[in-house]
Amino acid sequence: MIVVDKLNKKFGDLHVLKDVSEDIKKGEVVVVIGPSGSGKSTFLRCLNLLEQPTSGDIVFEGTNITGDKVNIDKIRQKMGMVFQQFNLFPHKTVLENITLAPIKLKGLSKEEADKIAFKLLKRIGLEDKADVYPNNLSGGQKQRIAIARALAMSPDVMLFDEPTSALDPEMVGEVLEVMKDLAKEGMTMVVVTHEMGFAKEVGDRVLFMDNGMIIEEGNPKELFENPKHERTKSFLAKVL
Ligand code: ADP
Ligand code: MG
Repeated sequence: MIVVDKLNKKFGDLHVLKDVSEDIKKGEVVVVIGPSGSGKSTFLRCLNLLEQPTSGDIVFEGTNITGDKVNIDKIRQKMGMVFQQFNLFPHKTVLENITLAPIKLKGLSKEEADKIAFKLLKRIGLEDKADVYPNNLSGGQKQRIAIARALAMSPDVMLFDEPTSALDPEMVGEVLEVMKDLAKEGMTMVVVTHEMGFAKEVGDRVLFMDNGMIIEEGNPKELFENPKHERTKSFLAKVL
């Protein structure tokens, strides 16, 4: 679904991604771990061109999206993104947050968009919050709404950047549950997270990133129980 070939990203003199190559297959759940500042967010943001790669190719569903002639907006509609800080629109209700993009970008009628939104709200257990503003929701609820909002566009892949890192501990579980359900339904997912339990239970593959490179990857059990590189070992010793 996504083929990344020799991706490089520089911010001025700072070389953040160094020849990253990776294949993400349809239906796969790929978990990205690594120390702070290693380039995980930049990698994710390059995948949907929130950051412009400095060099290298990203081929998404057969289209080289780093090329000049691509319609980035069309591509982004196929890639849902969920951020650590939720990024809900504060002056819009939950329902408006979810229906805005389907109406504006996909041209759905309000009725069609509402129907999809209520289905999603039901799925995440927040049907009663349709008319509420984000400020009146808990962090866990906000993040579940952010996931629903991304899903409302029927994306082919979902990108998650530390979706539970800003949450109080008691709210982490409810968000991970929604993500687990998504994975079970076969959604292709790339998840940056420090939740090693989630990685083990749901991840098909774990990538360990350090200093702008994918140092090591493997199935979660293999990587967690038998890390090969010193840097992976020392990172895991701190987080497991
Ligand atoms: P991670 O998500 O693994 O913590 P990031 O991808 O956020 O790492 O950051 C990798 C490096 O790139 C860090 O040194 C960070 O300061 C730098 N960086 C990220 N975004 C920008 C930006 N927009 N401008 C300049 N430097 C950036
Ligand atoms: Mg990050």
